[in-house]
Amino acid sequence: MQFNQIIDISIPLSPSTIVYPGNPPIQIEEIKSEASKSIISKITSGSHNGTHIDAPRHGIENGKSITDLPLEVFIGPCRVLDCTSDTGAVTSETLKSKNIQKGERILLKTSNSKRGYDVFYPDFVYLSPEGAKYLSDIEIVLVGIDYFSIKQKGSPDNRPHTLLLEKEIPIIEGIDLSSVEEGEYTLVALPLKYVGMDGAPARVVLLQ
Ligand SMILES: [Zn+2]
Repeated sequence: MQFNQIIDISIPLSPSTIVYPGNPPIQIEEIKSEASKSIISKITSGSHNGTHIDAPRHGIENGKSITDLPLEVFIGPCRVLDCTSDTGAVTSETLKSKNIQKGERILLKTSNSKRGYDVFYPDFVYLSPEGAKYLSDIEIVLVGIDYFSIKQKGSPDNRPHTLLLEKEIPIIEGIDLSSVEEGEYTLVALPLKYVGMDGAPARVVLLQ
């Protein structure tokens, strides 16, 4: 694999990282051992904090866990789509204009990337249920979005999660695409190997 640049699209993890309301926050306690003169830390965190990947089990009863998913899905060609003109939700019309093919890895860059991750805002841009249906019908293999949830906050309509997850399309949430242009990249997004989990944090990079 040849590349000139590694673009880190993961967000920093620390006790000050904002989390989706209701999720357990990140807590880090440094423990010094006098005996061994070493430092270890105790980390507490929800499984959907920071840059992370949703496994089918997150939204589908008896769905596959993060360690049931094949690693091939998480490494390979991907396309960042500029959806920044969509306010509210990424629409199926926008997606239809992007000529998406079966088997693609798709990252949605929305106007969320302009607002960043300094404070939580509930009116983030999400994927419309029709957009989720469009992507799951095409059978892309992975999707990502630049905020903590792919579905509208507070909406009872769970389809952006369920339509993708029942097709075993993992969802990367909490990526920062502020410095990334629409185009083709190589994605490396490896979720930590927490056995049987509904989701796991990941270091996500684009190679160019
Ligand atoms: Zn999640």
